[in-house]
Amino acid sequence: MANFYQHSFAGAISGLIYAVFIVSIGWAESQWTALLLFAVAIIGAFLPDLDHDEGIPVRIIFGLLATLAATLVVYWHYLKGGFALWYILIAGLLIFALVWFGIKRLFKMATHHRGIYHSIPAILIAALLAMELSRQYMDDFRLIQTIGGAMAVGYFTHLLLDEIFSAVTMTGRPFRSTRVTASPLSYRSNSLPVTLIAWALVALLIWRNLDFLKEWLPI
Ligand SMILES: [Zn+2]
Repeated sequence: MANFYQHSFAGAISGLIYAVFIVSIGWAESQWTALLLFAVAIIGAFLPDLDHDEGIPVRIIFGLLATLAATLVVYWHYLKGGFALWYILIAGLLIFALVWFGIKRLFKMATHHRGIYHSIPAILIAALLAMELSRQYMDDFRLIQTIGGAMAVGYFTHLLLDEIFSAVTMTGRPFRSTRVTASPLSYRSNSLPVTLIAWALVALLIWRNLDFLKEWLPI
């Protein structure tokens, strides 16, 4: 498996190539759009490793969530007034610990060894979700399409890198992958229900975003 830094680097390279390509065919007008596409591709290159137990993306996301929850709790007590300082601080610490240890553990149990984050339906889900999310905030048809594309490019780069690294190590020697799923570029996970849910989600999201996809679909 490639590590966090290799994935960041590969995501940045593919995001850069993608952004330059989109600008060169005239689909992005400003440099801000190009920058946005670049950033989305990098995020796409991080996302698959959310299912790794102690991966940096998991730590970053749960660190932010725990801090946010603790801040909200402290702020709420402060607004209400009448609480002792030590009480507020302990409440904040408890919430931080609850999110960091409790919810993170639940999340890990739910995603452990499923392998669906490293699969082709996951690329489609990530790209379609990016489109779904961006159309809540923007109405530029081309921009929404290219954001979906940037997510797909970043996500695909991650899986491709994992695929390469699972076949050979840096020294070129064959390497036995410890993952349950043999190839990150497969159409399914080891669990049939998870695979079915993933493809159902793909179908639902395609249907939701049909307006943006019609151009490329044979319908
Ligand atoms: Zn990975």
